[in-house]
Amino acid sequence: MGAPASRVVIVGAGPAGATLALLLCRAGIGVTLVESNSGQRRCFRGEALMPSGLAALEQMALLPQLKALPHRPLAGWRFVVNGRELFTAAEPLGGDPQRPCTLVSQPAFLDVVLRQALATNHLELLAPTTAKQLIWQAGRISGVVLGDGRRLAADAVVACDGRSSRLRQEAGISLSTGSSPIDVLWFDLDGPDPGTRPGPCPLQGHFTTLVGHQGVFSLFESANGGIQLGWVLDATQPTPQRSPQEWIASFASQCPPDLANWLNQSAAGLQGPTRLSVQVGLAESWWKPGFLLLGDAAHPMGPVRAQGINMALRDAWVASQHLIPVFQTVKQSLNPPQNQLLQDSALAAIEQARRSEIQTLQTLQAQEAQRGEQLRHNALLRCALAVSAPWVGGALGHHWSQLQKPLREGLATLLPAP
Ligand SMILES: Cc1cc2nc3c(=O)[nH]c(=O)nc-3n(C[C@H](O)[C@H](O)[C@H](O)COP(=O)(O)OP(=O)(O)OC[C@H]3O[C@@H](n4cnc5c(N)ncnc54)[C@H](O)[C@@H]3O)c2cc1C
Repeated sequence: MGAPASRVVIVGAGPAGATLALLLCRAGIGVTLVESNSGQRRCFRGEALMPSGLAALEQMALLPQLKALPHRPLAGWRFVVNGRELFTAAEPLGGDPQRPCTLVSQPAFLDVVLRQALATNHLELLAPTTAKQLIWQAGRISGVVLGDGRRLAADAVVACDGRSSRLRQEAGISLSTGSSPIDVLWFDLDGPDPGTRPGPCPLQGHFTTLVGHQGVFSLFESANGGIQLGWVLDATQPTPQRSPQEWIASFASQCPPDLANWLNQSAAGLQGPTRLSVQVGLAESWWKPGFLLLGDAAHPMGPVRAQGINMALRDAWVASQHLIPVFQTVKQSLNPPQNQLLQDSALAAIEQARRSEIQTLQTLQAQEAQRGEQLRHNALLRCALAVSAPWVGGALGHHWSQLQKPLREGLATLLPAP
């Protein structure tokens, strides 16, 4: 009789869990994917794919599928101070013209990934089902207990259960968190009826950030055509109680005239705000015997330059390259503890391969967030920049574009394992 086939349990069907499940299933490894949400109720989720995330999708052979989904290449990044344009940096900021930052509907993308994984016949999808606890056996994690009490045995459990990861806590792994001084209020400008929109949007495909006396906010046209807006506020500040008209007036007061006019006619469609707390952190370790953390569960990312999905996809690709060789064929010449040792060394290698990129990018995000905070809190600096924009804007835009390279492209080259 042959050795029993390996089974990997993945908890969480976000970008990290869904793509890892697909990659393992394609290699013939049995995967049980546990997801607590039914359907794709993920309205406020990231959709900006940087060249770093697109490179991961290319390795996964998922780029062609992406093109068939609602998507929108970004035209550039525009910065406005006190109502005056500081600079606009056109995509792809000197990078590969074939690979600009692209907005893609996350629910539609996850749906395609899961359908492909199911088509391999190696995926068991349990949704909506919550993983509640880990099963420990002789110092090793050997499965999960579900919300309904069922016990799932596994050769490895991969926790992709997001930034508040319950399984990370269950495994006793702590998260070192940087202090985050901000929260974000999220608005949808189109409401339930995009027909209420007052004519073509003057954003023209630019992710636009505006800083002024009222505060800082960014807005962009999302993959499926809606307009989303994120308003930064101090984490300690209560959510301002304003009517839709008052919010629109706050936004418009620091916009150039064309955008202000357009916003002033958009109050009927405004939905929100939804308050989102920003959490940044890094798990002290990403693995324990039989257990691995990936994506936001291992490293919740800040919102600067949209890193979360991109890093989750890169984690999943690297993890697959280490897990496939050890789980595809349980080595019959080895006894179970020897096989487990091999598997655990693969888990350690994944953390080693990914940790430094995450640490560096979190530092760069923090530095950029700090520059934004200085501008938000310093009226004199804003005034000086707005006045001198026609002369200094070009140089500032060039400098800013140079700083973006690692945040856009990542640090490591993603290659298939030798
Ligand atoms: C408003 C907003 C905008 C964002 N914009 C961007 C962006 O433009 N670009 C970008 O790269 N990132 C963005 N992000 C961040 C990005 O969405 C996340 O970093 C990314 O989704 C992380 O992927 P993940 O797979 O690690 O975790 P998640 O996407 O959080 O997925 C975790 C999954 O686990 C499930 N789950 C949790 N606990 C359990 C449990 N106990 N049992 C079973 N299932 C469980 C959850 O339902 C969820 O589906 C944004 C985030 C927000 C909130």
